[in-house]
Amino acid sequence: MDFSLSDEQREIRDWVRTFVRKEVMPLEAEVLRRERAGQQGFTFEQSRELQLKAKEAGFWGVLTPQEYGGMGLDAVTAALIEAELGRSFVPFYLGGKADNILFHANEEQQQRYLLPTIAGDRKSCFAITEPGAGSDARNIRTSARKEGSEWVISGEKTFITGGNEADFVMVFAVTDKEKGADGGVTCFLADRDMGWKSEPIDTMGEWGPAALVFDEVRVPEENVLGEVGQGFRLAMQWIGQGRYLLPARAIGACERLVDMAVEQAKTRVTFGQPIAERQAIQWMLADSAVEIEALRWLVLHAAWQVDQGVDSRQAQSMAKLYGGVKANEIVDRVLQIHGGMGYTRELPVERWYRELRLLRIYEGTDEIQRRTIARNLLKGHAKIGGYLG
Ligand SMILES: Cc1cc2nc3c(=O)[nH]c(=O)nc-3n(C[C@H](O)[C@H](O)[C@H](O)COP(=O)(O)OP(=O)(O)OC[C@H]3O[C@@H](n4cnc5c(N)ncnc54)[C@H](O)[C@@H]3O)c2cc1C
Repeated sequence: MDFSLSDEQREIRDWVRTFVRKEVMPLEAEVLRRERAGQQGFTFEQSRELQLKAKEAGFWGVLTPQEYGGMGLDAVTAALIEAELGRSFVPFYLGGKADNILFHANEEQQQRYLLPTIAGDRKSCFAITEPGAGSDARNIRTSARKEGSEWVISGEKTFITGGNEADFVMVFAVTDKEKGADGGVTCFLADRDMGWKSEPIDTMGEWGPAALVFDEVRVPEENVLGEVGQGFRLAMQWIGQGRYLLPARAIGACERLVDMAVEQAKTRVTFGQPIAERQAIQWMLADSAVEIEALRWLVLHAAWQVDQGVDSRQAQSMAKLYGGVKANEIVDRVLQIHGGMGYTRELPVERWYRELRLLRIYEGTDEIQRRTIARNLLKGHAKIGGYLG
């Protein structure tokens, strides 16, 4: 078994690592200062400027196919890139990406939605969650009824990432109550100027999601994404495809945090000795290092399965679950090693502490990942021993 990276993967990873160190990390103090003042820490303009800088070096659309101007990279390389980006808490992403399901758009929709999204001229959001349906997404109530050549959408969505800034939404609504999620849910491309409203939701994180209200919003029939009734399948594809990228980003965050903890342990002296001399501290560092390594291989293995075209759902759920749980344990230890300073807003540790908490909730909670993993075992879709038997 060969665990080594190709020369190209190593070059790409190193380029992103350098870019993050030289271009992103220097912004951290200012981003933190602005966030602490209740302002937006990292502005859209700053993000755009950095994205275009990366584009000049060819870093654009990591997973976007080359025919759409992207790099069309494999999932393993995408995971390596994401881990590097995760080293900074500045919410920077490389430009040129679009939601995977937008590639199901027809020719005309591609011109209006997909291509401008890739170019960064339009901003999308993905809306399935409702006040009464989160984990149980099959239970959504937002409905769409056909009137002539239009669909009329009514309902409420909640916790929609990017919903405050987006100018169009991929919204999921029930078009056939009898069939529900089994052929009765449809995905619509709805522009903001068609009439839906957004309201920011205050969270413990730094940038809030939105509640969206659809009050008889009229959407032309040509704005159905994919087929009428096939929306739930698209929603699951959106959620499932890039699940490995969430824990991938946590790898970078945890590496940076543990580096900080090592530094702190070596320099903080108590009772006449650096705390690094204490077994209690050493064990926290050791456990964190082992868990980061285990997470790395779970993520890369899940990504590798995506690249092989085999069913990667079990591996992705495992990586997401382990990443959420362990990243939270690690940031907690790192905060502990920093003592009172870890709890202050002078250091970014508490910021990561709050941000990483989300990883256990969105795109499938810990409990839902465990449910998926156990069900796959019980139903025989997956077996202990994994893909390699
Ligand atoms: C910051 C943020 C951003 C988000 N972005 C988006 C987005 O862009 N688009 C979107 O559509 N949604 C988004 N979400 C919604 C997110 O996916 C849901 O919050 C998540 O799926 C959980 O649903 P819920 O909040 O309704 O919790 P619930 O489903 O009500 O769950 C509550 C608790 O019960 C547990 N639970 C539920 N069912 C079971 C079960 N069968 N067995 C055991 N335990 C169970 C859960 O794990 C959880 O601990 C976002 C959420 C947040 C917080």
